[in-house]
Amino acid sequence: MYCGLDEKEGGTWFGVNAFGLVVGLTNLTLRMPDPKLRSRGLLCMDMLGLRTAQLVREALKALPAKAYNPFNLVALDGATAVRASYDDAPRVQALEPGVYATTNWPIGSDPDAKRMAAEKRVRTMLDAAANLNEVVEGLKNEGRRHDGNGDPRASVCCHAPGYGTRASTIALVDPMRKNVRLLHADGPPCTSDYEDHTGEVATMMAFKGF
Ligand SMILES: [Zn+2]
Repeated sequence: MYCGLDEKEGGTWFGVNAFGLVVGLTNLTLRMPDPKLRSRGLLCMDMLGLRTAQLVREALKALPAKAYNPFNLVALDGATAVRASYDDAPRVQALEPGVYATTNWPIGSDPDAKRMAAEKRVRTMLDAAANLNEVVEGLKNEGRRHDGNGDPRASVCCHAPGYGTRASTIALVDPMRKNVRLLHADGPPCTSDYEDHTGEVATMMAFKGF
């Protein structure tokens, strides 16, 4: 798999595996995390050990109660997409084809407007994009976007005292799971350029770069 690595716990919050499965996990801001619970990054790593999003869906439904601090997770593989929220127990939802954003804010909370605004902007961007390069440029612009002076409740690229966006990754996998493109900014994408890692990722996956 190709992913960031938490050097302390050994987990990750975003990655793609050799089967073309993409998994991302965010905090879900409900309460202070309990440090005694298992790392959510390890759970994300577990999911990246599976072959399909359908298997992720089944694994998430089977998670025990009160085993993790709250999180949101998305998994997709071109054929299936699932989104889960975990607040003492999992709620797992199959997603129809479309544009979906996930943030650390609870669905229906005031800052959840950030998620809906991002979905709307990306839908508009995709409708206007003439080719894959324009899609990637549009996603880069979305990643570096500042609203409310970087306020995490409003801004995709977050800047707050002691906390904020640390890195950004764009991963594209085609529905046939034969082509991949991956770009990564190793810092806030407003100041760190996205670098193209497609070649090494495609080799790892035995996919083609596109
Ligand atoms: Zn920024």
